[in-house]
Amino acid sequence: MKLYTINTGYFKLDGGAMFGVVPKSMWNKLNPADENNMCSWALRCLLVEDGNRLILIDNGMGDKQDAKFFGHYYLHGDDTLDKSLAAHGFHKNDITDVFLTHLHFDHCGGSIVRVNDQLLPAFPNATYWSNSDHWQWATQPNEREKASFLKENILPIQESGQLQLVAVPADGLTKTGKLASADFTKDFSIRYVSGHTDKMMLPQIEYKGRTIVYMADLLPSAEHIPLPYVMAYDMFPLTTLQEKKSFLQEAVDNNYILYFEHDPVNECCTLQQTEKGIRKKDSFLLRDL
Ligand SMILES: [Zn+2]
Repeated sequence: MKLYTINTGYFKLDGGAMFGVVPKSMWNKLNPADENNMCSWALRCLLVEDGNRLILIDNGMGDKQDAKFFGHYYLHGDDTLDKSLAAHGFHKNDITDVFLTHLHFDHCGGSIVRVNDQLLPAFPNATYWSNSDHWQWATQPNEREKASFLKENILPIQESGQLQLVAVPADGLTKTGKLASADFTKDFSIRYVSGHTDKMMLPQIEYKGRTIVYMADLLPSAEHIPLPYVMAYDMFPLTTLQEKKSFLQEAVDNNYILYFEHDPVNECCTLQQTEKGIRKKDSFLLRDL
């Protein structure tokens, strides 16, 4: 198996919304805001070459939205999905599987492209993976989360016939207090969390003798490791809190590597137990592992 970091650019989100109840006097030191209170965040995907499969985990926000939309989210930076794939010798047509952690626009916007006013799959040869619970949640969204689930990113996946839904294990934390899990491939399993949105999927990958977990929006950045740092975007913040607690203990006990989708500085980190709780230990690039 081989893993490749796929950077698709940066975008901006309100710092207050990203750090929840944490005051600006604290979070502004971690990710300084611009004059509009917006902070920069990465859109970092992960490419998994697993036997004859080429699995892309999430795909950024794409570029098919209008100027007004990008005026809100400030897509910036030199990296694009196409450029990052090409840097490793790949093309969108080579992707066999698109694994979507969840269907918020900053995770699945690159799934669909607009060609002559038609909305078509950006990865013509890929199976797109979501799960039945999340699919239903996203296609019948509540009013608070609606703005994150854009129809044009989601419905054409199903219309193309390329959508597959993975089975969802029973519910949230298991009896042992661990995040629910299911197999995807031999070395790629899925952990389920529901605080951010219903049944978000975190890929857990065995690689070079280590365990790497793609954090998606359970921990958008390393600055979100301390327990009270829960995003205001989360649907069920107390569920996120429980899921973080359980996951961070498991991760520190087993020396997992955390891979961050939105951290503008840290790509990967390990954890350590400190007097204040579990904190970041080493920060590094995946390619240096
Ligand atoms: Zn996100």
